[in-house]
Amino acid sequence: MLTPAERERYNRQIIIDGFGEVGQSKLKSARIFIAGVGGLGCSAAIPLAAAGVGKLRLVDFDTVELSNLNRQVLHWDKDIGRPKVVSAAEKLRQMNPLTEIEAIPEKIDEANIARLVEGCDAIVDALDNLPTRYLLNKTALERNIPLFHGAVHGFEGRALTILPGKSACLWCLYRGAVIEGNVPVLGVTPAVIGCIQAAEVIKYLTGIGPLLTDRLLVYDGRGMKFSEIKLKPNRFCEQCGPEASSGQTPGAAAPR
Ligand SMILES: [Zn+2]
Repeated sequence: MLTPAERERYNRQIIIDGFGEVGQSKLKSARIFIAGVGGLGCSAAIPLAAAGVGKLRLVDFDTVELSNLNRQVLHWDKDIGRPKVVSAAEKLRQMNPLTEIEAIPEKIDEANIARLVEGCDAIVDALDNLPTRYLLNKTALERNIPLFHGAVHGFEGRALTILPGKSACLWCLYRGAVIEGNVPVLGVTPAVIGCIQAAEVIKYLTGIGPLLTDRLLVYDGRGMKFSEIKLKPNRFCEQCGPEASSGQTPGAAAPR
């Protein structure tokens, strides 16, 4: 049930064909887990809060550094040294007081992941390293929670939606590859990809439109092109296949 203020606030999306107050109520009752409040996490959290998602659970153990500010748009000069989740929660609450923000300053690992995703309807993968992404992927599969993947490198970004048991997973895609080091990133790249992740979450929650499943969307900001790579679930996948286990095997080079 929406209040008069909510009807007015969200009117321009409620009047979208197929959205309606039913769609808005679905957003209102959802809790979304945002793993990482860096470039992708900031850029995904803003449209999700603005659209009226009921609860956002932000998880990040990092503090804001000067070198974050070219792309992590919820963190400003005054926030340097503050926990990212505190800085992001403060701005999001000002943006939309109707969205409840949970700020959890923890490093995601095997020990806490089950507790962190508890009660969440979707997971936004806004991380910067593959090992933790694989942990998110495994947890999403085990708990049947949709995973919205995003990754960035320089001018290039990627996005993929994973529906457990229905579409190719992150392990199908990257097969255990791990690379290290600082990734170059232009601020607009996570802005584009984070917004695409948010759009996918909203589409999933409202049931509007086909999702970005089994096709990796590749954004090339240098040539200003979008393209798609077709995927299919790998039946030998160690995370989503019938023989799924937690084992890891090295694979080809992949983005972080
Ligand atoms: Zn898989």
